[in-house]
Amino acid sequence: MAANMMGGTAAPAAGAAAPAGAKFCPNCGTPTNGAKFCSNCGTQLG
Ligand SMILES: [Zn+2]
Repeated sequence: MAANMMGGTAAPAAGAAAPAGAKFCPNCGTPTNGAKFCSNCGTQLG
């Protein structure tokens, strides 16, 4: 989460109007929509 403070990506702010259960790649902040891997950078998601 702290990585979001680095800036440069379109990572959503914590507590933003994201729908419940929404997940974002911890590496690049791309919305994953429940995917097991980030569609942008390929990071494995929990
Ligand atoms: Zn990613």
